[in-house]
Amino acid sequence: MQIAAHTLGCKLNSAETSTIVGQFRTQGWDVTQSVENANVYLLNTCSVTANAEKECRQIVRKILRQNPKAFIAVTGCYAQLRPEEIASIDGVDVVLGAKEKFNFFSHITSFEKLSAPKIFSSPIDEATEFHLAATADTDERTRAFLKVQDGCDYTCSFCTIPMARGESRSADIDHIVSEARRLSDDGFREIILSGVNVGDFGRKIGTSFYDLVKAIDDDEKITARIRISSIEPNLLSNEIIELVAKSKKFCHHFHIPLQSGSAPILKLMQRRYTADLYRSRIERIKELMPNAGIGVDVIVGFPGESDEDFLESYDFIRSLDISYLHVFTYSERPDTKAVMMGDPVKIEKRKERNAMLRILSEKKRQKFYSEQNGSVVNILLESGIHTSETGNMRSGYSENYVRAALAVSSLPLNAELVKVRLCRTDGEFVIADLLEVLSYRSELLLLPIL
Ligand code: SF4
Repeated sequence: MQIAAHTLGCKLNSAETSTIVGQFRTQGWDVTQSVENANVYLLNTCSVTANAEKECRQIVRKILRQNPKAFIAVTGCYAQLRPEEIASIDGVDVVLGAKEKFNFFSHITSFEKLSAPKIFSSPIDEATEFHLAATADTDERTRAFLKVQDGCDYTCSFCTIPMARGESRSADIDHIVSEARRLSDDGFREIILSGVNVGDFGRKIGTSFYDLVKAIDDDEKITARIRISSIEPNLLSNEIIELVAKSKKFCHHFHIPLQSGSAPILKLMQRRYTADLYRSRIERIKELMPNAGIGVDVIVGFPGESDEDFLESYDFIRSLDISYLHVFTYSERPDTKAVMMGDPVKIEKRKERNAMLRILSEKKRQKFYSEQNGSVVNILLESGIHTSETGNMRSGYSENYVRAALAVSSLPLNAELVKVRLCRTDGEFVIADLLEVLSYRSELLLLPIL
């Protein structure tokens, strides 16, 4: 028996798909990339995109065209939020909610196609177990995403994640440390600590994210470098910042959602910090780690965001010493407080504001990159090759999230982690000179031209 899987959405979803597929493996199943050969096709969905349903429907149709006998199982955030909607898609056999997704075999005993779909779904407040999960970054096998926390107890007014993933919960530190050791032993050079609200790690089990960072930092068997995924500013304590600053293992890179720099909008969003607190975090990071890369999430066009609010937010972001932005255009989500607020921003305005912030992001990135010229960093190379005016290049990220590129001709084919000097900015890359190869890939990968 063979299973194929497809993930929509974030890295957390990818990690969970790997865990579910692993359970099939334990039961003696093989994993296939080929839709035609799959007895079961698992689709792990996301609710963030406005088109979740359309996307899900399209994928199911495509699978059934290639393999009408495939047993189709759908799970993930969208499956928890709208199980009936998914069950109404022709050809879907089962829908599994947040509590059920890690228990396929206790719900399904036969994988023959069903004449009518079955839904296994519980109220979200019953999803209280934590399932550790990890996944490799696509086929690179150099970076791994390690899920350390799930769910969220916050009530941001635009967000459906707490409804789809349930309450905040986490694994204990010993389990995470041993999983990080395993990933490190397996040859991963970078581990990204991931979660829905990572900074909330451990609160309910008498520990904290600081304790986790410290335990990983102190463990000599974990040799991979460690990156913290997105963390809420109110939970990124100065203690954590100071620990990362001293660490040789933790990357000097932070991704901190701001969402808006305008006080009234932050309040309407029900975020748990002020713009002043946000600024103080950035200042502390830069004081201790002048070269740290800092990414910022921003939402434009939230209900009630006037021109003045937007400009206040824009000016605030412009004044921060940050490296890049991830700009999201607000879109209405059913069942959220924000959608009931009224006073929507016109779509055209949302687009204009998005464009303005993208330009600002590019300026910030270029400034950050040019400040890094001359510095020595370690780049984890990806396998693809780009052609540019300078010739064929390979690229990857430094600890502080500079995307650097090196001439293929200057590198051994199986180079993986390299020490380089950053030389000059060239579009979206910083061109670098090789100083030393720190590690090699164990197997030679085929290098596709991107
Ligand atoms: S912190 Fe806010 S935006 Fe993030 S998952 Fe929780 S509710 Fe959603």
